[in-house]
Amino acid sequence: MPTLVMKFGGTSVANLDRIARAAKRVALEVANGYDVIVIVSAMSGKTNELVGWVDETSPLYDAREYDAIVSSGENVTAGLMALRLQEMDIPARSWQGWQVPVKTTSAHSNARIEEIPADNINAKFGEGMKVAVVAGFQGISPEGRITTLGRGGSDTTAVAFAAAFGAERCDIYTDVDGVYTTDPRITSKARKLDKIAFEEMLELASLGAKVLQTRSVELAMRYKVRLRVLSSFEEPSDSAGTLVCDEEEIMESNVVAGVAYSRDEAKMTLISVADRPGIAAAIFGPLSEAGVNVDMIVQNISEEGRTDMTFSCPVDQVLRAAKAMEDAKTSGDINFHDLVTDDGVAKVSVVGIGMRSHAGVAAHMFKALHDEGINIKVITTSEIKISVLIDRKYMELAVQALHDAFELEKAA
Ligand code: ADP
Ligand code: ASP
Ligand code: MG
Repeated sequence: MPTLVMKFGGTSVANLDRIARAAKRVALEVANGYDVIVIVSAMSGKTNELVGWVDETSPLYDAREYDAIVSSGENVTAGLMALRLQEMDIPARSWQGWQVPVKTTSAHSNARIEEIPADNINAKFGEGMKVAVVAGFQGISPEGRITTLGRGGSDTTAVAFAAAFGAERCDIYTDVDGVYTTDPRITSKARKLDKIAFEEMLELASLGAKVLQTRSVELAMRYKVRLRVLSSFEEPSDSAGTLVCDEEEIMESNVVAGVAYSRDEAKMTLISVADRPGIAAAIFGPLSEAGVNVDMIVQNISEEGRTDMTFSCPVDQVLRAAKAMEDAKTSGDINFHDLVTDDGVAKVSVVGIGMRSHAGVAAHMFKALHDEGINIKVITTSEIKISVLIDRKYMELAVQALHDAFELEKAA
């Protein structure tokens, strides 16, 4: 039997009615002749609630217990989905990550999937089971502890299952009907894309478009999984949603494919550090050990052997970053006059494969921001993206202005 993976995000399983609606979708695919692996998220809001309980109980929590708690939301929806399917006379059962087992690294709260043996679930398909409902977002470490895959991790569970089972397709059901030129919540001019290249989706995701977790796109690209994003609220059709596929499958595309944003960023500057070989390692080594995800880095021109070093990181890692820097100063590994934090910035990025062969995208972007009076604080570029840090209060305006400037509401 061909296998299909169907993933339902939090809003698609937000209550019993929605679970029933999702189960009907699954039933359609069973009727189409598929063995189905359903990956479920927790009911919307549940994971946030669980994270809140952890933070309230223990601010510097043991990440193993964080995972034990935060993974539980998915267990409930997996069981409920299996029960709903059974009520529809479809042979189904639920699986928690450890039961499959979804083997991961021990990097608690941000683990990576290493292996998903297919034999347990395949044996059940062989015995007549039609649907395996798997709790997304979770796995088991080599030490036998429950792990989670980082926020949005059920997308990655889904793609990893599609790869492990050689599924015909991986359908990601969510609350929007596909991948748009930007978050449709920010501008009504956002346009749904029929297709998007893996590389563009990878950049958009890693730059903040949370419609797919970055790692899921990485896996889909590596294992050639056909990945589709679609709404669980619309009527089924073959052309629905957005297909994430190889660049070669896309005939025409705009130079800029989309605009992404990441709202909660911080900019930290070490004032007057010695400009000597090894200084970057002495700063960014401890930051990495402290679990700080450093993003942009800018080193100023040095004067009299001293320079300023600026980096950005998620705003909720500022305390950790500051502590790592103060500790490094105390131990004499680095020396700086001051650490200045700006915790009110956001990152806005434009992404497109077309940038490889088109000059002038950066200039056009900067002009559009200038026309709105938006000051750019830090810039980084790669072959297919340009990112800027700006004041958070201008973030929506910047996204809208860039969407207009690159005429993304129009198809190529
Ligand atoms: P789920 O709970 O189904 O995993 P998420 O909330 O994680 O859903 O992801 C879907 C959301 O991603 C949408 O509601 C939308 O606001 C946001 N989003 C951000 N960028 C984009 C984009 N370029 N295209 C579509 N949705 C986007
Ligand atoms: N429930 C988890 C989260 O909210 C995983 C997911 O939904 O993808 O991050
Ligand atoms: Mg998600």
